Amino acid sequence: MSDIIQLLPDAVANQIAAGEVIQRPASAVKELLENAIDAGSDNISLVIKDAGKTLIQVNDNGFGMSETDARLSFERHATSKIKSADDLFNINTKGFRGEALASIAAIAQVELKTKVEDHDLGTQINIEGSEVKAQEVCNCSKGTSFAIKNLFYNVPARRNFLKSNPVEIRHIIDEFQRVAIVHADIAFSMYNNGNEVFNLKKGTFRQRIVGIFGDKTNQKLVPVSENTDIVNVEGFVSKPEFAKKTRGEQYFFVNNRFIKNAYLNHAVQNAFDQLLSKDQFPSYFLKLAIDTSKIDINIHPTKTEIKFEDERAIYAIIRTSVKQALGQHNISPTLDFEQELSFNVPLLKSGESVKAPTIKVNKDYNPFETKTGSLPLSKKSTENWESLYDSFNQDTSEIIEHVEKKKEQHVFSPDWDNEIENKTQTLIQLHSKYVFTQLKSGSLIIDQQRAHERILFEQYTKSLEQGKGSTQQLLFPETIDFTSSDAELLKELKIEINNLGFDFSKMGKTSFVIIGVPVELKEQNVKKTLENLLEQFKLNESELKLKKHENLAISMARSSSIKSGKTLNEEEMKTLVDQLFACEMPYSLPNAKPIIISLNLDDLNQQFNY
Ligand code: ADP
Ligand code: MG
Repeated sequence: MSDIIQLLPDAVANQIAAGEVIQRPASAVKELLENAIDAGSDNISLVIKDAGKTLIQVNDNGFGMSETDARLSFERHATSKIKSADDLFNINTKGFRGEALASIAAIAQVELKTKVEDHDLGTQINIEGSEVKAQEVCNCSKGTSFAIKNLFYNVPARRNFLKSNPVEIRHIIDEFQRVAIVHADIAFSMYNNGNEVFNLKKGTFRQRIVGIFGDKTNQKLVPVSENTDIVNVEGFVSKPEFAKKTRGEQYFFVNNRFIKNAYLNHAVQNAFDQLLSKDQFPSYFLKLAIDTSKIDINIHPTKTEIKFEDERAIYAIIRTSVKQALGQHNISPTLDFEQELSFNVPLLKSGESVKAPTIKVNKDYNPFETKTGSLPLSKKSTENWESLYDSFNQDTSEIIEHVEKKKEQHVFSPDWDNEIENKTQTLIQLHSKYVFTQLKSGSLIIDQQRAHERILFEQYTKSLEQGKGSTQQLLFPETIDFTSSDAELLKELKIEINNLGFDFSKMGKTSFVIIGVPVELKEQNVKKTLENLLEQFKLNESELKLKKHENLAISMARSSSIKSGKTLNEEEMKTLVDQLFACEMPYSLPNAKPIIISLNLDDLNQQFNY
């Protein structure tokens, strides 16, 4: 094969959306996998060491590069994929900017081995900080292999900025999945620190989804298929009963490229209208095929955002085709409140007398100040598209309003502790959601789910800080099979999850045997709690950028707390209220949502014109 890479003329290069594309190991993984696909490979492997911080290697069996091309590929604006500005409107490859390899070579030690079909020998190039250290012939098979070592070795500030291994490996797996899901005609494998994480054979789109997300996914999928002049939609949505509490597996691909688009996401969510409750999210894997001249990929350097000529029509087509698919499969509305985890507030043992509530109140505490490490309201990220519909942020205005109101009312008066001491034993549950209690100068309404989340959050934070949680051994150890990516995350977080109180060991590639659970959890819903914990962890990580410990404590509290809708008996309410007031910060959740609302007696009297 002759040389094909050319340097783009400045006039074209200047029209390309500029910007840094290598922010973390996962960005390099994405660029290398995409290059391997563009090279026509049908077998691609990814080898990772130390979450990509020491090694990222991608091997493919594509068409390889000639000696000249191999050398040229590291130059800025060197590409074989476009030649003129016109080509920008007819892009059929993943790459076109000719910048990825140049950017990677500038900040890492790179070893390239490549060979084209009709040559006996290939080329090896070693390049470090953009400087070619060696170039020689090598004996290798057809295709290309890039080994990226010590990313950011020469930019310490960037290297220090990298997150912990569990977080970086999560990003890598996300990128790997985004590429692998939609290219079912290519075999993909991934190894992390010598362990096989994925081994995906060639197959259909459905087989690929099941290969990545586990055998049980198969029964959850409803096929979607619609051909129109504007767009062809092909793929799957999850049945409503398998909807998730957090937005998990939601994938749009446009011409086989993963994209993020809040507007189109809304179209799918909308098609599930009335089939899901407000806090449930469907999974979807939808491939859109659109004429390349009707989209613009060149608006963002990482190419995960694209512009459509006719976005509104596409919205309508997606919404209708998903609705139709759900209709055809006779999926009737099911609002399954039973899916909630039910978990009991520890009951008093028989014979134990009810103790008067003991209350610790920190007089210096100002409920309107956010504590270090907790989430300030301003954390709301406007650049993060996902946060548009993020339930954490959804109610921000509500929270601000609430806090402002409270400030005006000076509800938490200086004699607050006195008040609590005098709280009566009357506890009433309202709407299976709130606990009502009376004070001398008014009343308190406590949100039961949030209260329990706060209690557990503080307990789990302590366990993580002290490096030990209280474990209760299971009478019957439970074996749980996870998806490959969750299994990997579980391995990376093993120490911390042990510290939360889980005791487990690895059985097979993706299965674990759970021997002990946190005492607070008893023997209920171990599988669901662990799955929810990992799901919540991923969500908090990507959308809220929380620190590892805080994230784990929040996620664990969220996944194991009692929920709204659960009827509590008097003792359970009492325990809940006592434990809440023993917390360091009983008034709000780490995300600033209120736990307690108080009704002032003076205000009440005023309303009755006393
Ligand atoms: P782009 O993909 O935008 O063209 P890159 O910097 O990623 O830019 O790659 C530069 C060029 O190197 C590509 O256009 C391609 O010709 C060549 N190249 C990169 N990776 C491979 C590969 N795995 N196999 C064959 N050629 C490759
Ligand atoms: Mg590229």
